[in-house]
Amino acid sequence: MIGLLGGTFDPVHLGHLRAAEELRESLGLHELRLLPCRPGHRHPPHASEEQRLAMLRLALADNPALRLDERDLRRAGPTYSVDTLAELRTEYPGRPLVLIMGLDAFTGLPTWKDWRRLTTLGHLVVAHRPGAHPPLSAELAEWLAERRVGDAKALAGEPAGRVLLAPLTALDISATDIRRRLAEGRSVRYLVPEPVRNYVERHHLYR
Ligand code: ATP
Repeated sequence: MIGLLGGTFDPVHLGHLRAAEELRESLGLHELRLLPCRPGHRHPPHASEEQRLAMLRLALADNPALRLDERDLRRAGPTYSVDTLAELRTEYPGRPLVLIMGLDAFTGLPTWKDWRRLTTLGHLVVAHRPGAHPPLSAELAEWLAERRVGDAKALAGEPAGRVLLAPLTALDISATDIRRRLAEGRSVRYLVPEPVRNYVERHHLYR
């Protein structure tokens, strides 16, 4: 099983890495790929694409199970998960692919490009705070009920088609907060890996 965690990673931080490591373990993934995206729907990231890639390379260097996948920045135009999954499905015809997203993203799923096609290409894992039950639209609740499974073993047996809600205790770290601290000249030590902190300092990022 290959797990896929997309994001802006502006910059990558220990919240991302800890979540990736925990999901890799709890879902029994062979590898988990971090895919920096080119957002189409919000203001552009602060760091350049090359800088975001460089920070991810530094952050992932010491863990072979967490890998950088650059495809969404190599493709022209903004990133849509359905395009990412379609490409990977062609490369790995029979392999379970697991698209990971947070609960907030999931509640907005019906606004995504070709969202109903996502589970024809891969599984979905919705990471959520233990005990969180936000309201879902009737349309999404019905779609979920038809696909929902109770544990990760059910994902391993087929390449696509299922949705798993996975509890995850997220560290209280966000890229927005890290950028704010840097803009104010404050420390981000222990919020990002040291090599990333050194890179940010050397390149005067987020000032
Ligand atoms: P920003 O503050 O700029 O919006 P972010 O810190 O939320 O950024 P993203 O690059 O948007 O980071 O996140 C990529 C993915 O990682 C998303 O699915 C997001 O939900 C998840 N994520 C972000 N921060 C954490 C965290 N502290 N713990 C667990 N997951 C996280």
